[in-house]
Amino acid sequence: MHCCTNKYDYIVVGCGGVGSSTLYRLAKNTPGNVGVLGIEQFQLGHHYGGSQDHSRIIRYSYSEKEYVALAKGAYDAWSEVEEDSGIQVVYKCGGLNVALKNTSAEERLKTYANAMDINGTEYESLEGIQLHQKFPSFAPKSNLVAQYQKDGGLVDSALANAVHIQLARKYGADVLEHTTVRKITRAPDGKLIVSTSNGDFCCKKIVVTAGAWLNDVLKSVGVHIPVTVTQEQVTYFGTPHMKEFCHKRFPHMIYHGEGKDIYTLPIYGNSGFKIGIDAGGPEVTPSTRNYTPDPVRVKYCEEFLKEFLPRSVGPILYTKTCLYTMTSDRHFVIDTASRTGFPDVIICCGAGHVFKFAAVVGKVLTDMALERTVPYNIKPFSLNRPAITDPNFKKSFIMGDESHLQAMSKL
Ligand SMILES: Cc1cc2nc3c(=O)[nH]c(=O)nc-3n(C[C@H](O)[C@H](O)[C@H](O)COP(=O)(O)OP(=O)(O)OC[C@H]3O[C@@H](n4cnc5c(N)ncnc54)[C@H](O)[C@@H]3O)c2cc1C
Repeated sequence: MHCCTNKYDYIVVGCGGVGSSTLYRLAKNTPGNVGVLGIEQFQLGHHYGGSQDHSRIIRYSYSEKEYVALAKGAYDAWSEVEEDSGIQVVYKCGGLNVALKNTSAEERLKTYANAMDINGTEYESLEGIQLHQKFPSFAPKSNLVAQYQKDGGLVDSALANAVHIQLARKYGADVLEHTTVRKITRAPDGKLIVSTSNGDFCCKKIVVTAGAWLNDVLKSVGVHIPVTVTQEQVTYFGTPHMKEFCHKRFPHMIYHGEGKDIYTLPIYGNSGFKIGIDAGGPEVTPSTRNYTPDPVRVKYCEEFLKEFLPRSVGPILYTKTCLYTMTSDRHFVIDTASRTGFPDVIICCGAGHVFKFAAVVGKVLTDMALERTVPYNIKPFSLNRPAITDPNFKKSFIMGDESHLQAMSKL
């Protein structure tokens, strides 16, 4: 019979953005220190996953009302983190969504408007030259439409992770770094056994927030989530006009192209203006990815800035790579492995856009672990949906190989 001396009530596998938040919420909501453990295969704050760097966009502008509702919860949850730690992690610089008039991207902006209307979120619509009038850094163009939302902003991602971990420890959580979870099995007494590179741990419930590695962990509980992992990158430009593009003056921006979205973040955390292509990178695995910037995508971003935000261009400071882990419909997975006999294994996949929600998703996963009612509609994030169960499900995103980018002559 298996005898486990390392006993915890709750174990979180993976301490990236979502895991660190979950660890904090679990530790805070289980008074009396009943035992919460976070296990991380690398050093905390490592750059191999999806959650590092200075900034991530936070916004209400989504097509689905579920995400807008979750965004409201996210802002509140980040405020709680700031209140509890005394450290600011969210900066409301404002947010812009921009598209060319009379394109399918303009239609997408309308779906954002609908979802924000349903949730009572205010925004401002700008047309043609109005964008330049409100934000003179934009080149004057008559063929653009835009939505401005004043609460849009950035989350200091690296800092937020560190703050979550320090708060978790304050509330009694243990954190084990350099420890890889190899498998999860069922003990004869019904508890879960987590086998790691540093021995076995028993617990009542597990939350798996393992990012690009999640299927390695879930294999032992009979779950496979079809995900596409891509190597993404962001480039920082050393604009000479820093004051114009700093986070106190300039919003984040998402430009919705016909095939690709391009996003920019104002100067924060270093002196560079940040730009990236959403889902622009090649498909990789955590072991095949590299850390070498792709010059084609850097050039593409530079050309974009020259056309739309010419005063932001300056020498390239650096380009940083990072991983997206996307389901085929790009919606989250927030569910349990109950269908394979493990209702006590809770799973989250962030689908390449979860950071803004990390604070509230940690609360949701905690509610699930503590068997409380989840105050959000998480049904769309079930494992039992075509994007997960249908092997022929068509991906809702376009892979960004080089030929595709070159074919995108029209920004
Ligand atoms: C360039 C880029 C820009 C982005 N921009 C935005 C944005 O503007 N707004 C937004 O909301 N989102 C954005 N995202 C997406 C967002 O950052 C990610 O969805 C999110 O950070 C993923 O968090 P995670 O905790 O799920 O995964 P990760 O941060 O990857 O964490 C998973 C952790 O699990 C650990 N782990 C894995 N397997 C094991 C194991 N077996 N044992 C122990 N530990 C394990 C890993 O080491 C890792 O630390 C962006 C992502 C990238 C790459």
